[in-house]
Amino acid sequence: MNIATQTKIFQFCPNCKSEQIQTENGHKYLCNRCQFEYFHNTASAVGAIICCADEMLFTVRAQDPHKGKLDLPGGFVDHNESLEVALSRELKEELDVTIDNWQYFYSGANTYLYKDVLYNTCDVVFVCQLPHKPCLTADIAEITEFKWLKFDEIDCERIAFASLRKAVQKFLKQTVE
Ligand SMILES: [Zn+2]
Repeated sequence: MNIATQTKIFQFCPNCKSEQIQTENGHKYLCNRCQFEYFHNTASAVGAIICCADEMLFTVRAQDPHKGKLDLPGGFVDHNESLEVALSRELKEELDVTIDNWQYFYSGANTYLYKDVLYNTCDVVFVCQLPHKPCLTADIAEITEFKWLKFDEIDCERIAFASLRKAVQKFLKQTVE
């Protein structure tokens, strides 16, 4: 398979600079000259369903992919982080709020195309029910705004990623019916 058709990474071996680097599926790369191997592994990502009474918190994406679409607060898990620690960090960065009582809810596979590099992710969604709406401040580098939407006003087609759309649909089905 031509590497350039799917992803820009590694047209040359990062170890010996040979062009003899191959991949079959964009996951494992092997250099036929020096035997360098690299696995473009699935990345962990987290998202938060935060509810207060009959409303759910969404962010609006400031960046591609899916700029302008609805998103759940969250992001990629850093090295040496747990899922829950990563989610609390993202909430602090994106909305300047401290939340750490997460309940696991859903996980789903997803893809994330960033600057012509395709990342496969496993998105893990946690739920937190809040008794009161907290004070939030949007980090405009990552999100243009945040929105509290009533459950019956949520248009799932406007949610950026399929995995998160499925999580919200599952949550609404359980909660509203
Ligand atoms: Zn090599």
